[in-house]
Amino acid sequence: MVGRGSVSEIVQDGFTVAIDGPAAAGKGTISRAVAAHFGFAHLDTGLLYRAVGRQVLAGIDPVVAAQALSPSDLADPGSLRSAAIAEAASKVAVIPAVRAALVDFQRAFARRTGGAVLDGRDIGTVICPDAEVKLFVTASPEVRAERRLKELRAGGFDTDYDTVLADVRARDARDGGRAAAPMAAADDAVLLDTSAMAVDEAVAAAIRVVATRR
Ligand code: C5P
Repeated sequence: MVGRGSVSEIVQDGFTVAIDGPAAAGKGTISRAVAAHFGFAHLDTGLLYRAVGRQVLAGIDPVVAAQALSPSDLADPGSLRSAAIAEAASKVAVIPAVRAALVDFQRAFARRTGGAVLDGRDIGTVICPDAEVKLFVTASPEVRAERRLKELRAGGFDTDYDTVLADVRARDARDGGRAAAPMAAADDAVLLDTSAMAVDEAVAAAIRVVATRR
């Protein structure tokens, strides 16, 4: 990926919070809240794969798209939230050369001055195995499908529960079953099952975990 921040922004004494988990488990909300609470920068790494997926839907080769990705491709995250782009993202994410092209940008972001929260599928296992804090946020597929349905409808996308549940299950299978950096909890990750938690409770639980390591 080109166009990343200058080398002077990258320091060795950063503080990294790695938040992994399946689609619609609450990672994004929790990550944004943790970042705001501690004053850390936040990177939703799913957007990188979604931006590549969007290019592929436009007919561009996935590896070429990943190597040429620039921060401006992430400028309008709302436009990357459709189910079609999510599906395309999870397909390009199985390609090792696509993943490799996105590693440096993510690692540089993780060590930037002032601390960083990265959320994704392989942050605690592959991108930042030395992260100071690792969380694996999960919830049942049914709960996640309900949440994703609400988000999609709020974003103006017209769909129904059964379709979203099928998408959630298909993405879980692809993300967890692929050979390259499959979605997995790191051995030293703290597990947070948000199935029965309100948003505030899940956020508070995550903040407590980070606070104990800070
Ligand atoms: O998190 P989000 O749903 O935006 O991610 C879209 C897709 O990008 C995921 O289904 C997954 O296949 C891929 N992804 C990944 N590794 C990451 C983040 C996302 O493989 N760190």
